[in-house]
Amino acid sequence: MHSQTLPVVNHSFASTDAVVRHLDMNLNVNFDKKVIDGVVSVYYDNRGEAESLILDTRDLNVTKVTAGEKHRRTSFQLGTPQGDLGRPLIISVKPEDRVVTVHYQTSPNAPALQWLSPSQTAGKLYPFLFTQSQAILARSWIPCQDHPGNRITFRAKVKVPKGMMALMGAQNDMVKHPRGEYEFVMAQPIPTYLLALAVGDLDFRAISDRAGVFAEPAIIEKAAWEFGDTEKMIEAAERLYGPYRWGRYDILVLPPSFPFGGMENPKLTFATPTVIAGDRSLVSLVSHELAHSWSGNLVTNATWNDFWLNEGFTTYFERRIQEEVYGKEQSEMEAYLSYQDLVEEVKTLGANNEDTKLLLHLEGRNPDDGVTSVPYDKGYFFLRLIEQSVGRPRWDEFLKGYFEKYAFQTMTTPVFLKYLEGTLFKNDKKAYENLQVDSWIDGPGIPANCPKVTVTSFNEVDTLAKAWSSGTTPAQPKQFSWTTQQWQHFLRALPRTLGNQQMAELDRVYGFSKRGNSEVLFEWFMLSIAANYEPSFAAMEEFLINVGRRKFLKPIYTEMAKTPEGRERALRIYERARPGYHAVSTRTIDDILKVEGSTR
Ligand SMILES: [Zn+2]
Repeated sequence: MHSQTLPVVNHSFASTDAVVRHLDMNLNVNFDKKVIDGVVSVYYDNRGEAESLILDTRDLNVTKVTAGEKHRRTSFQLGTPQGDLGRPLIISVKPEDRVVTVHYQTSPNAPALQWLSPSQTAGKLYPFLFTQSQAILARSWIPCQDHPGNRITFRAKVKVPKGMMALMGAQNDMVKHPRGEYEFVMAQPIPTYLLALAVGDLDFRAISDRAGVFAEPAIIEKAAWEFGDTEKMIEAAERLYGPYRWGRYDILVLPPSFPFGGMENPKLTFATPTVIAGDRSLVSLVSHELAHSWSGNLVTNATWNDFWLNEGFTTYFERRIQEEVYGKEQSEMEAYLSYQDLVEEVKTLGANNEDTKLLLHLEGRNPDDGVTSVPYDKGYFFLRLIEQSVGRPRWDEFLKGYFEKYAFQTMTTPVFLKYLEGTLFKNDKKAYENLQVDSWIDGPGIPANCPKVTVTSFNEVDTLAKAWSSGTTPAQPKQFSWTTQQWQHFLRALPRTLGNQQMAELDRVYGFSKRGNSEVLFEWFMLSIAANYEPSFAAMEEFLINVGRRKFLKPIYTEMAKTPEGRERALRIYERARPGYHAVSTRTIDDILKVEGSTR
């Protein structure tokens, strides 16, 4: 008999002798009960003589399991729940079996699933469902071996209420089926954190033959315009690092409670509507999610400790796409802001914090704890340092070869470093030493040889910000057509000690509180909290209730919680806002405000 506690490796209970290769899923989406009824056939390789197959589950109500093609009833056992890891589903099999079929229902509190009421959507008529599986939430809606070290293919049949459209990160029919029955195929092997489903009242607009946008009808035109450069981005990415290997590239715009900027679900990026600014100024998000089609989805971090291999590479690649499509000044402004984000993050975490190292140590923790600016921005600057060291042509050739050689495989930090040293630096040991790789990978904080970014378009911004610091309203420049990034920099450059009168004056002159641009609004709110400028707080509350994107929520709630009155305000707002947030966000904000996370 199996013991109730199994060793946990790579945040999964899965054993290595019976490894899952393919899923055939039948999913019935029930909006009334907020559950998915699933029948999933799990195909696996039995590498030895394994007498059990172990799957990860979380809050799944498993009712029946069969083994073999003929669906022989077999015994199964659910191990003791272990917090965020869920519990192992241990299924008895015969050595010759290659498939088991699991019948189950998800919990209404499944953390991967967010069920929105019609009032939380743009159209207000239909409810909405979306999933977020990264990092270890796939197990809360599909029984699987839920770790990034393994890849699977899948087919799925999904039934949803009539009039609604279902989409998955997979090949799909692109049209609404009146009976609500949809079929999907994912022929390229993917890690389970990329399993994704969305159901809503959705419309489609093509951008090119292979790219397009899905969104609610109320925002489809705006979304299609905002992401109109997507084909140009794909072409730029292919010129840089080789062919796009996934067929179609579509973007699904979700309701504002989506906890992330974007999620790189294969063939179908999930995106926050907060990047729809009306001027394409925040579409680096698309460059980022698109870049994941190479770094992450094609060459995948083998463990969550190696997360920077996904995010650092993607942040680097994102900037290169931005440079190709919008020019170097644009990508350098973004790099500069990303350096500031890194400095700020390291300050918040503490310069010696383990989580400021590129190689993380997430054993025994929720891998979501490793999602800070570090894997993204420190990772970016490490790769930029390598580019500086060997020159762009050689670096680009190396990267292209790397994505080709390791396509559809996983990667660890030691294997990457060995490959880097043995190819790009084969004949130049000195240059490799100069990178001081250890200080990046295993050293905390920002290494001394971190590349510097200088941006000329920020000079006039700095001058004006400095003038505002003096306490009077400075003369305004005649020509005033700053980019979003210049405004972000301006608001960050202002001192945190401005008086109420000056804050009012700033708002009168530049109209920050009425901006529709989420990034500019965010910076204005951050400044307002620091300056305790009350007239901003009503708009901020509105923003926090409508938007669930963790990137904005985390710093705003953190900043508010720094003073007793601020913390009280934060708690009051959070009480109203929390029911509208995804579990990924409530987990973070509960922690910041030290709220008991009982009902999500
Ligand atoms: Zn990313």
